[in-house]
Amino acid sequence: MDRNRLEANIRQRGQEFFSRMGDAMPSLFRMDWWTGRVMDACMRNEQFKVQLFRFIDVLPYLTTGDSLRRHIEEYFARDESVPGVLKWGIKGVGLGGGLAMRVLSGAIRKNLEMMAKTFIIGDKPSRTVDRLADLRRQGYAFTLDQLGEATLGESEADRYAADIHALLDALGEAQAAWPTLGGGEGALDWGHAPRINVSIKPSAMYSQAKPVDPDGSVGAMLGRLKPIYRRVMDQGGFLCIDMEMRRLKNITLDLYRRLRSDPEFRDYPHLGLALQIYMPEADGDLERLLDWSRRQGLPMSVRLVKGAYWDYETVVAEQEGRPVPVYTLRPETDMAFERAAELILRNHDVCHLACGSHNVRSVCAVMEMARLLDVPEDRYEFQVLYGMAEPFRQALLDLTPRVRLYCPHGEMLPGMAYLIRRLLENTANESFLRQTFVEGIEAERLLDPPGTVLQRERAAVEASPAEAPAPAGGPSGAETEAVEPGPFRNEPHPDWSLPEVRRAYARALDEVRGRFGQTYPLHVGGEDIETDEAVESVNPACPEEVVGRICQAGPDEAEKAVAAAASAFVTWRDTPVRERAGYLVKAGDAARRRLYELSAWQTYEAGKQWGQAYLDVCEAIDFLEYYAREMTRLAAPRYMGNVAGEVNECFYQPKGVAAVIAPWNFPLAISCGMCAAAVVAGNTVVYKPSGETPIVGHTLLQIFREAELPPGVFNYLPGRGSVVGNLLVEHPRVSLVAFTGSMEVGLDIIRKAGNTHPDQPNVKRVIAEMGGKNAIIVDDDADLDVAVPAVLTSAFGYQGQKCSACSRVIVLEAVYERFLERLLEAARSMKIGPAEDPACAMGPVISASARETLLGYIEMARQEGTVVYESSVPDGGYYVPMTIVTGITPEHRAAQEEMFGPILAVMQVRDFDQAIEWANATRFALTGGVFSRSPDRLKRCRRDFRVGNLYLNRGCTGAIVGRQPFGGFRMSGVGSKAGGPDYLLQFMNPRCVTENTMRRGFVPPQEPRGG
Ligand SMILES: Cc1cc2nc3c(=O)[nH]c(=O)nc-3n(C[C@H](O)[C@H](O)[C@H](O)COP(=O)(O)OP(=O)(O)OC[C@H]3O[C@@H](n4cnc5c(N)ncnc54)[C@H](O)[C@@H]3O)c2cc1C
Repeated sequence: MDRNRLEANIRQRGQEFFSRMGDAMPSLFRMDWWTGRVMDACMRNEQFKVQLFRFIDVLPYLTTGDSLRRHIEEYFARDESVPGVLKWGIKGVGLGGGLAMRVLSGAIRKNLEMMAKTFIIGDKPSRTVDRLADLRRQGYAFTLDQLGEATLGESEADRYAADIHALLDALGEAQAAWPTLGGGEGALDWGHAPRINVSIKPSAMYSQAKPVDPDGSVGAMLGRLKPIYRRVMDQGGFLCIDMEMRRLKNITLDLYRRLRSDPEFRDYPHLGLALQIYMPEADGDLERLLDWSRRQGLPMSVRLVKGAYWDYETVVAEQEGRPVPVYTLRPETDMAFERAAELILRNHDVCHLACGSHNVRSVCAVMEMARLLDVPEDRYEFQVLYGMAEPFRQALLDLTPRVRLYCPHGEMLPGMAYLIRRLLENTANESFLRQTFVEGIEAERLLDPPGTVLQRERAAVEASPAEAPAPAGGPSGAETEAVEPGPFRNEPHPDWSLPEVRRAYARALDEVRGRFGQTYPLHVGGEDIETDEAVESVNPACPEEVVGRICQAGPDEAEKAVAAAASAFVTWRDTPVRERAGYLVKAGDAARRRLYELSAWQTYEAGKQWGQAYLDVCEAIDFLEYYAREMTRLAAPRYMGNVAGEVNECFYQPKGVAAVIAPWNFPLAISCGMCAAAVVAGNTVVYKPSGETPIVGHTLLQIFREAELPPGVFNYLPGRGSVVGNLLVEHPRVSLVAFTGSMEVGLDIIRKAGNTHPDQPNVKRVIAEMGGKNAIIVDDDADLDVAVPAVLTSAFGYQGQKCSACSRVIVLEAVYERFLERLLEAARSMKIGPAEDPACAMGPVISASARETLLGYIEMARQEGTVVYESSVPDGGYYVPMTIVTGITPEHRAAQEEMFGPILAVMQVRDFDQAIEWANATRFALTGGVFSRSPDRLKRCRRDFRVGNLYLNRGCTGAIVGRQPFGGFRMSGVGSKAGGPDYLLQFMNPRCVTENTMRRGFVPPQEPRGG
């Protein structure tokens, strides 16, 4: 293809396109309409835009006049009155006081609903079908998209599928009356395209779809998709599978291939797939698809789009510490679009192209490439979104007959989420439509090749280098200055959508299983010690399976361990801080090298699902890296006062021998966090792992050994709590006890550590992280699409065996029924089984005794309230049913006692005051959550919901080191937050040295001073 000619043709065609659009303005931007004014305000005032979009998000939930008015005031009238632009064109706002507000709020609702209707073709099949007929009369084909709430449970997915069937029925009846487009004979538009065309969201086909379980997800999706496609086929229609978030991309590609190649459908060619080209990896995806299609002899159709989740993908990747998977400059996406379009057009014999864009340059590039490549007209078409850029679509129709509108159909509630996506797209600085219709950039410039635009943008960036953004989760600049190994960054979360990541985990499970049955000695003073007594550690999903045998320490070994730690202490204390920190960084490297293997041990010994186990190891690495840097920061000399002739230097020294008594639920992360903090601060450690997870505890020893920590600094001492634990806590040479576990044991440790032995050199310091009875409040305006899954994950993630787990969800009565219904539907859809199986969301609890205790609690809950859901469980392992109980009030034990398992109380309250009162009505204060879209109520919770870690509009588990320092107060613990800037201080004694530097009235001209 002659590139110069192509470029000239694109420009010429583009100019024609622009002149056909003339001065017409899309309705969204028309300044003589309310919508246009409001959009204009959004583009000029970022703060207003945020408030407006958030308000649109909550609007469908504001079902009473009171809540509507309250939210309008909270969102828009904080400092003064409602902004003029929202009142524009509304009659009756001149009235006074409450009446004016009533008129105004009603009108704002109406205007926003009208705005939504510009993008949504209808909410009833009959009305939608009428409008489609209208569009067809104007010459447009359509693809119909059924809007839906997030499908949280399988019955919601069934309902979504039933809605599509109903739509198909209505379309099937109507199509006979539609003349074909393009004036051709027969039933096909333009002689080749089915008149019925529907688009479906793959995520709506299966509520439990997850990247870690691609086969199970695709299989379940096909279960619903095949009957839909069969119906489409019966009607001679076309089905397109939309593309959503990247985490479902590979699943969606597989879904397409499996449906397309299914023997029942392989002879029916009308199946398409949307491909988002804003991801660099999309080029490879497309090449593989084309290759597959050619090899299989299965022609396909690709709707090429740039991608609608750019902001989402960018934010999520940054939050999870992974590389941003999308291009970061729009011309890069535009270039990729043209590149991919060309590849498809060159392969038009196997792939039909649907060009989905509102960008004149992109569309004209496709038109002209197709012409120069002699692509037959039936091998490509153009698609635009209903309601977007009417002048654009009209000009497009003038230039090519094959224009299809993507028409969403459905209710207001899911419609608002769709509306926000469209508004974001239209108001983004990067939007071609905004640049064309609002910024008025001249056509000549808008038609520049994306490569030229890219060079221009890069040159502009180089000319004015922007400030580098702070690394996600990294400490502030001041803190990083003293750090040698670079700024702190959280360990990236795994990307389960990658087959190599899943394969690595499966391989690690196999390898670890091959090492079952070994015996693990103690490790004291640099020596392995075997004892006569060894106990078995078993797989809780299959207790007959012995993961390994662990030698048990008795009083003699405990004495030896304390003596070894004491004798290593002085040298270790005086080891330079940077050297001590270096050992932690090396241990972090060792853990990183063995990340899959360390996770696999947890899956077997602790019953942790893949994701939970992997993130536990990530957290352990985070603790090592974070505390290494924190200690370096704290070791920098600190001077106090600002008086001549006096130097006051404050610094820290370690306390001595630390006993670390660890729990089983975060068997590596919490163990590692407590030990790493003690060690880097200069203490030596005797570590007693939990009796339930001693082998995972041994992996901590292994990584410290790989880091070549000097002998005696870290001693591994598995043994019974009643023997070894007590002895350590009461030992006079132990100066510090770091404990995480239940309140009962924690309080016992605090009491015992308080008894001072006559020879004891130090008063013991106890750092105790204890339990929680955590609540999540669900306000009457909460987004249930987000709240329900977050509550489920918080309550049942790792079987509810987290001190941060949600065990009470407190729901306002206005949304109680709806919330409970969706919660139960979603809970019923969750799979329960061994943690090894990535399809399972919940596994076994840790031990037979935990199981007995929890079954007792379920009986208790049954007496106190109504058990509305009790799942079935597999045979064999230590399984406890997922249990949801209602009718619980603060007086009940189910609302007060920490049960540490998969039992959730759903509590109904009349209003928000009562919700806060009940949330606080326990002895604990660890975590809490609030789902609300009321700015005032969220503000109030910051003050009145008194817990150590409060999470607004997200679940209450999963604190991240360096971002959400973790820990509570009241009966939830004593000590300051793990993974935060104050944590290490507890492991040290502060000292201050003051020197008088004056000699006979003379002071040095420069001496260190404080601020
Ligand atoms: C018929 C139809 C169906 C669609 N179906 C889907 C679908 O199934 N899945 C889906 O995700 N989207 C879908 N879209 C939306 C599409 O992905 C785009 O979001 C939208 O069309 C805007 O692209 P544009 O070419 O019209 O506009 P342009 O203004 O030319 O491009 C905007 C696009 O560029 C990209 N972008 C923005 N900022 C940057 C940046 N800083 N760096 C790199 N790239 C950037 C984004 O993808 C953004 O949407 C569909 C669009 C149409 C028309």
